[in-house]
Amino acid sequence: MIKVGIYLRLSKEDKDKINIEDNSESIKNQRHLLLDYISKHQDYILVNEYCDEDLSGAGTYRPEFTRLIKDCENHKLDLVLCKSQSRFSRDMEVIEKYLHNKFNEWHIRFISLADNADTNNLGNKKARQINGLVNEWYLEDISNNIRSAFNIKMKQGEYISPFAPYGYEISSKDNNKLIIDPIASYIVKDIYTFYLKGYSYTKIANYLNNKNIPSPSYYKYLKGSKLNIISNKPRKDILWSPNAIKHILTNEIYIGNLVQGKRTTISYKNHKIITKEQSKWIKSLNTHEPIINKDTFTKVQELIKQKARPLKNNKIIHSFSHKVYCLHCHHLMRKKNSHTHEYLFCPNPNCSNTSIRYDTLEQIILSKINNLVKKYYNKDLLNKYLNNQDQLNNLIKEQKDLETKIINHQNILFSIYEDRLNKLLTTTEFKDLTTNYQKRKTIYQKQLNQITKQISLYNPPSLNFKSFTKLNYLITNEFISKIFISSIKNQVRTINIIWNF
Ligand SMILES: [Zn+2]
Repeated sequence: MIKVGIYLRLSKEDKDKINIEDNSESIKNQRHLLLDYISKHQDYILVNEYCDEDLSGAGTYRPEFTRLIKDCENHKLDLVLCKSQSRFSRDMEVIEKYLHNKFNEWHIRFISLADNADTNNLGNKKARQINGLVNEWYLEDISNNIRSAFNIKMKQGEYISPFAPYGYEISSKDNNKLIIDPIASYIVKDIYTFYLKGYSYTKIANYLNNKNIPSPSYYKYLKGSKLNIISNKPRKDILWSPNAIKHILTNEIYIGNLVQGKRTTISYKNHKIITKEQSKWIKSLNTHEPIINKDTFTKVQELIKQKARPLKNNKIIHSFSHKVYCLHCHHLMRKKNSHTHEYLFCPNPNCSNTSIRYDTLEQIILSKINNLVKKYYNKDLLNKYLNNQDQLNNLIKEQKDLETKIINHQNILFSIYEDRLNKLLTTTEFKDLTTNYQKRKTIYQKQLNQITKQISLYNPPSLNFKSFTKLNYLITNEFISKIFISSIKNQVRTINIIWNF
């Protein structure tokens, strides 16, 4: 008796066929055809069926195909039956490797019915090879078509991923458009503000986790996404990570630009994902409403570029990070702590030992900045500001109250989502509650915007109001590009400040 194995495959291409009535490729049909053939041969006995569904003819991951090959190698079969050679594989290399090589070695015959391939028929080999080639071209065409369809969409500024990035939602009217998610966008803004205040990625992540703000993937889940994420952790335990923070801080999506097509698969045969060169990314400007203004975004990118190393203890960037250079050798000066004081020193061993006490430099720079501010600042405005100080303080208090209220409402909204998820609320209750809280939150937000605007009239954004009493990185970075420091000679030290203006 001849031991027969039949191999069936339903591919994505078949499923997408326009003419669905033509289901001659369906698994049921393939099986029917093959069993019918076996029944016409009395010496054939079916020993196994191998069936891969939904898998591309080029993909290397076809579990049933792998099982078939293994059974062939272990001589469990004498004959492999297929509807057509392209069911077996669309890949020339696979055809060559098995049909014309290994199967020979293992004494296995291959027959495909629709295209009359039979490895026992030697004159048939050329036809099989040509068939294989045509099949491969077909596959490459499909793959290229899909790619170019996506590329066109991306070039038109359409958002093609089924999942919106954190801070946005996919518009219910047009699923290629992004709209702002009122809750998450608030967190995105906070992340940018914190970073500009000098917080590290880690510190921001910890802060959000301590406040129980759901991480992007948990939030996605709370909002009803069925996305499967590969993780052993329950979604609730997936926390904000420094990487997630970095991702949000560097993504142009938040200034209204779409950057897509960053990654691709190597080819239609090799599905390994690679990142494309930046010049090949597809970028469309102003495709949706920004969450972050361009100035803030640019400032954050500059800060990231400087790669300022945060201090180990409190993880806040020190005031002179990447700002101070040795005047003699132009080396970046490093910070070190002795047990009494902090110093900046030139790390170049061939240099003249330039060093300065950190607090000394801080005092010098602080007074320079304050002098500058005094000199250029409009006195009338300053007086007016001082007179209105009380009024301003009241506004600031009100602003803080509103911010707290908004955060509280936002937290309540989160817990409503959760309650709904745990089926503690009916759909109607959920709708009523969210509308209610959302409404109130919007009112507070409007009040807050008004007050913030009022405050900004007191407090122009140029920062130069009254004297600064303490330096921080934000202030030095606003005013100073670089500082050059010499060593002390004849009790004189030179300090050159390169201002930002
Ligand atoms: Zn030096």
